[in-house]
Amino acid sequence: MELARKLEILSAAAKYDVSCSSSGAPSRGSLGQAGLGNTTGMGICHSFTPDGRCISLLKVLLTNFCVYDCSYCINRRSSDVPRARFKAEELTQLALDFYRRNYIEGLFLSSGIIRSADYTMEQLTRVARSLREEHLFRGYIHLKTIPDADPALIAEAGRYADRLSVNIELPTEASITRLAPEKKVVTIKRTMGHIRSHIEERQGERRAPRFAPAGQSTQMIVGADETDDHTILNTAETLYGAYHLKRVYYSAFSPIPAASSLLPHQAPPLLREHRLYQADFLVRSYGFSIKEILPAPGNLALDIDPKLAWALNNRAQFPVNLNTAEEWLIARVPGIGVRNAKRIVALRRQRRVCFDDLIRMHCQMKKLTPFIQTSDYFPRRDSVSSEVLRQSMVKQQLPLFPFGVV
Ligand code: SF4
Repeated sequence: MELARKLEILSAAAKYDVSCSSSGAPSRGSLGQAGLGNTTGMGICHSFTPDGRCISLLKVLLTNFCVYDCSYCINRRSSDVPRARFKAEELTQLALDFYRRNYIEGLFLSSGIIRSADYTMEQLTRVARSLREEHLFRGYIHLKTIPDADPALIAEAGRYADRLSVNIELPTEASITRLAPEKKVVTIKRTMGHIRSHIEERQGERRAPRFAPAGQSTQMIVGADETDDHTILNTAETLYGAYHLKRVYYSAFSPIPAASSLLPHQAPPLLREHRLYQADFLVRSYGFSIKEILPAPGNLALDIDPKLAWALNNRAQFPVNLNTAEEWLIARVPGIGVRNAKRIVALRRQRRVCFDDLIRMHCQMKKLTPFIQTSDYFPRRDSVSSEVLRQSMVKQQLPLFPFGVV
């Protein structure tokens, strides 16, 4: 098979793995040929490094042959799709060619499982080793880790990769048993534990050989089973705590051709995936707990974002006086982010914060007006009910708030 055809098949097959964050690409779709998922042409996707840089990665599978038969996966053993496989040398050369032409700044490499977990992991590691040692490749490498693989192979992969990821796949053990019976949660978690130990061993040891300096991540499929957002977020919280993951990526299930009857026929709304990312971000960057964001079983609201939903459910904490409140509470006001909360606190060391300061800081004024108080702006507490406020926010209309002394 020609290299170009292999690239076409194996970059399209890689689109379902979102465990490198992507932006500015068409939406994912499994049915028909539409949409190259979170890759653009030639399997190139955009991803963010831990220091916030946006980089282009060649996102590709080593092969889409697989001996497993996970129901939700288009590359499963029983799936009738065109198959291809790169030789390790072919893929190494391809990545180098793209890199030298400035098409990419790195490689995201995953694979179906062929022969055995060890054999597959060895092949993936071979590509990374060759790039680093034979070709002195300095680009970013994200390697997918095969859970059953020998820990020695994972240890070696971490020497060459910037980031390693092991997919947890589904939010509950029961769903994994039902939809991916050949996978074992205990094995996936054990591999995450190995990676965490290797990363921690090197922390503070300046002379220690490098090991996945950009940490580890995982991916969870949303909407392939009945699990609600409450359980999904709690699973993510447990994984962050137990394995010190850098990121949990959420991937809305995409219906596949000739799917198993165990799977839903429709994809969940992409907005659900987006809300999960927002909730995840609130936990990682704003210090919210899952209990605060979603106190009871169920799903996140789709019509408003989780930070606004929390504020509407906690009206007693508002309006927040921006001239006296602590920085963490200011950051929790809808429409004010962590960065602007810092700027507000810095500004009030010089003078009192007024309404126009927020406009100059480009805060989201439509969102924040019901929740703040400044030296010249005093919304009357509870002058509008949370429900009216919610409807108004959904319609993106600025509610009218009477000015006056609280
Ligand atoms: S092991 Fe991976 S590639 Fe193979 S069927 Fe399962 S999810 Fe798909």
